[in-house]
Amino acid sequence: MKQDIHPKYYPEAKVICACGNEFKVGSTLPEIRVEICSNCHPFYTGKQKLVDSARRIEKFQARAALQNQASAGRKGKKVKKAKAVARKKEAKKIKAEQ
Ligand SMILES: [Zn+2]
Repeated sequence: MKQDIHPKYYPEAKVICACGNEFKVGSTLPEIRVEICSNCHPFYTGKQKLVDSARRIEKFQARAALQNQASAGRKGKKVKKAKAVARKKEAKKIKAEQ
């Protein structure tokens, strides 16, 4: 091994998961913190778990709720078109009367 070019190697680096699990690996860092490990990953546990560290799901759900609220008050194209047709008929009727 060439001298002075390799980082310090820790054969027993500690890995700490957000779920509380800890294990040791070889690494150039003495301590590694992770969000997910084989103890708590959905692939291994078989349970669904949302890894949402940036609150993206929560934000999306809030936005979707707002959209639903806004669209509840809208009537849609069909209603608008029917209104427009009725208005035209009325205008024609008035023209015919004159
Ligand atoms: Zn874990």
